[in-house]
Amino acid sequence: MRCPLLAPLFVVALFVCRAAGAGGSGGGANASAPSAATSAPRWVLVVHGGAGKAVDPALEPEMRAGLSEALRRGSAVLAAGGSAVDAVERVVTILEDDPLFNAGKGAVFTRDGAHELDAAIMDGRDRSAGAVAALRTVRHPVSLARLVMEKTPHVLLVGEGAEAFATASGVERVENSWFDTPRRRRQLEEELDAQRRRAASPGKSMGTVGAVALDTQGHLAAATSTGGTTGKMAGRVGDSPLVGAGTWAEDATCAVSGTGKGEQFIRAAAAARVSMLVAFGGRTLTQAADEVIGKVLHPGDGGLIAVGRDGAVAMPFSTEVMARGVADSAGRLEVAVRPK
Ligand code: ASP
Repeated sequence: MRCPLLAPLFVVALFVCRAAGAGGSGGGANASAPSAATSAPRWVLVVHGGAGKAVDPALEPEMRAGLSEALRRGSAVLAAGGSAVDAVERVVTILEDDPLFNAGKGAVFTRDGAHELDAAIMDGRDRSAGAVAALRTVRHPVSLARLVMEKTPHVLLVGEGAEAFATASGVERVENSWFDTPRRRRQLEEELDAQRRRAASPGKSMGTVGAVALDTQGHLAAATSTGGTTGKMAGRVGDSPLVGAGTWAEDATCAVSGTGKGEQFIRAAAAARVSMLVAFGGRTLTQAADEVIGKVLHPGDGGLIAVGRDGAVAMPFSTEVMARGVADSAGRLEVAVRPK
């Protein structure tokens, strides 16, 4: 809904518009959400760069810089009145090009030494969604996911079919080896070593990226992009491209992007569960997000970012770290990797 911005009535009008927009069980403030009428944001953008074990401290400043840059560029979209879908796609494409994160350039390796990329995007206006999985040559998986959403009658395209759709759509392609980085190669070697010593289990992956946004029109969107888990079997698909597991957006409740052990997020329908707890469980966004990460999932499984219809923000995680950040129209711009 649009708020009248007539000068002397601005603060009062903004409060009334927000209060009306936040009605029902979807409302709810949390520690990180603006609560005063004067600071109620017209738009909110939240980003993550993966959850997992503590990262090399030398990488942390670069991670924070990468997230800040993505937030700034996504904020420019929202501040100019752009849609939440445009903003989350922009943020995720920037992080897909950042070799520090496990999405696009810098994606982890499969057991066979290749890269298979997954992504999803969802528009809270009508729950339209697009997703791709097991891509090998698409530079920006999230943009192909958006094309699936907007140009096909389907939600999820995988493997060869998705590559053929990429060809038909004319999106940018790269050799599979373009996604290589020495750091991810070392992680594969360590993971294969570890797998030889114990039964195979999903490998480490820290660095999946995601974004959720509330735009000036009151619409929500979410996007997630990942290389999956280090040393995964060829053909393995995690939660990120599965609507309801790692990605969810619905204007009536919230937008969510998850990161962590994908198999666990799939089993819990984690992202949709946050939304359902808000819609039908009477929880605030913070309560719902904390419940999914803290009670439904197991300690160490991962984290999520979420934004509610009223601009409330939640960013819980049960891992040692989660790279994350938030920006809003009140001027907030914060990024962090470790727990506060
Ligand atoms: N959730 C991703 C997957 O399982 C990995 C991650 O977020 O670290 O594919």
